[in-house]
Amino acid sequence: MKQSQLFTKTQKNAPKDEVSLNAQLLIRGGFINKEMAGVYSILPLGLRVIDKISDIVRDEMNKTGGVEMQSTALQKKEVWEKTNRWDDKIVDNWFKTTLKNGTELGLGFTHEEPMSNLMTSFISSYKDLPIYVYDIRTVFRNEARAKSGIMRGREFFWKALYSFSKNKEEHDVYYEKAKIAYKNIFDRIGLGNKTFLTFASGGTFSKYSHEFQTISDSGEDIIYIDKEKNIAVNKEVCNDGVLKDLGLEKKNLIEKKAIEVGNIFSLSYKFSEPFHLKYRDEKGEEQFVYMGSYGLGISRLMGTITEINNDEKGIVWPEAVAPFQVHLLSLSQNEEAQKIYIALVKNSIEVLYDDREISAGEKFADSDLIGIPYRIVVSKKSLENGGVEIKKRNEKESKIIKIEDITKEIK
Ligand code: ATP
Ligand code: MG
Repeated sequence: MKQSQLFTKTQKNAPKDEVSLNAQLLIRGGFINKEMAGVYSILPLGLRVIDKISDIVRDEMNKTGGVEMQSTALQKKEVWEKTNRWDDKIVDNWFKTTLKNGTELGLGFTHEEPMSNLMTSFISSYKDLPIYVYDIRTVFRNEARAKSGIMRGREFFWKALYSFSKNKEEHDVYYEKAKIAYKNIFDRIGLGNKTFLTFASGGTFSKYSHEFQTISDSGEDIIYIDKEKNIAVNKEVCNDGVLKDLGLEKKNLIEKKAIEVGNIFSLSYKFSEPFHLKYRDEKGEEQFVYMGSYGLGISRLMGTITEINNDEKGIVWPEAVAPFQVHLLSLSQNEEAQKIYIALVKNSIEVLYDDREISAGEKFADSDLIGIPYRIVVSKKSLENGGVEIKKRNEKESKIIKIEDITKEIK
C-alpha cells in the first residue's frame, strides 16, 4: 500500500486523558482512534494487526476441530433469564436497549447462553457430538474502569469457542488440546516466553479454570509463577490449600503483574441443564451435554503486544502480526522506489511504501513509530553505494544491499 493513500496520520501526542502506553502508542501511530473512554475505532493499520492475530487464532482453532460462525450482538432477554444472567444484580456489565415496541434486548457480553440455546436445534444424538464452535467478533461490556487502553474496552474484539461433549472424559481431552492450541498461538504471536498457564477460580462448577497471563507491569492481575514447572497461580485463588493441591512450594514462587489474555473454563452442565441441552446415547438414554468455554482477547492481545514490544521511538511489531513486513521509504527517489515497490508486491511481500512529499526526518520518525519489521530506504546516497539501505526495526545498524537481493534478504 502507498502511504499517500493511507488517510491516517501519525501524531506527536496522544490524547491527554489517555494514560495507558498501549493506547498512546497505537493512537500516535494511527492504528486506533479514541472515540470515548474504552471505545476505539480500529483504523486501517490496526485492522491489519487484528486480522493477523485473528488468522493465527483461526488456524489454531481449526486445527483442534473448531468451526467458525457469527453469533449475534443483539440478545434476547428470555434466553438469558434461563440462567438468571439477565438480572443486572447478577451481571453488572450489561449494555441493554429496547425495541420500538418496548421489548428489552441486550448487547452480547459473552455467548454461552445463545450458543447453548442454538445447539438445542442441532444436537439430539451421540452422533452429533462433539461440537467445537467459535466466534470471532465484537462484544460489549459496561466496564466500570477503562484505564488500560484497548486492553479493557467497553467494546472489544475476541474469540470465543464453546465445546459440546458427550461426557467429562471427552471434554477433558479437548480441554488439554485447547491448552496446546493456546500455547501455539502465544508462541506464534511472539508472547510465548512471557505467557503462563495460570490456575484461577473455577467458579461453582469446577475446581479451577485456567487463565493465560502475560507478564507485564501494565497488567491488572497478580500471579505467582513457578518457572521450573512453567505454571502460575492467580493471587485471587492462591492459598496454602491450592499450593498443596498443585505440589507447589512458596519458595519457588515469583510474584509478577500480568495481563489476562485468555481463559478456558470447564462448564460442566451449568448451561446444558437450564437449556435442556441433551442427547441420546448409544443405549437410547438421554444425557446432558458437557460444555466448556475458551475465550481469547484479540484486541487485548494487540494492546499487550504493544506494551511489551516498544522503545522510546515507537512500536516494534513481531513479524507475525506486523501490519506490513516492509516499510519502503523513498527519499526523493520515487522512480527507483516505485520499481522496488512493484517487485516486492509481485513477490507477495507486504509493503507500506512511503511515497509522500515530506522530509526524510519525518519519514524516519513515522517509520520508527509505526514499527514495521524491515525498513528499506532508497536515497541518492544508497543508490550511489550500489543499492538500498536495509535495517530491522529492532536493530541499530543498517546495511546496503543490492536491489536484486531485497526479496532474498527479507524471505
Ligand atoms: P478480566 O478478568 O480481565 O475482566 P474476564 O475474566 O471477564 O476478563 P472473560 O469474560 O473470560 O474475561 O473473557 C475472555 C477474554 O476476553 C479475557 O481473557 C480477556 O483477554 C478478554 N477481555 C475480557 N474483558 C475485556 C475487555 N473489557 N476488553 C478487552 N478484552 C477483554
Ligand atoms: Mg478474569
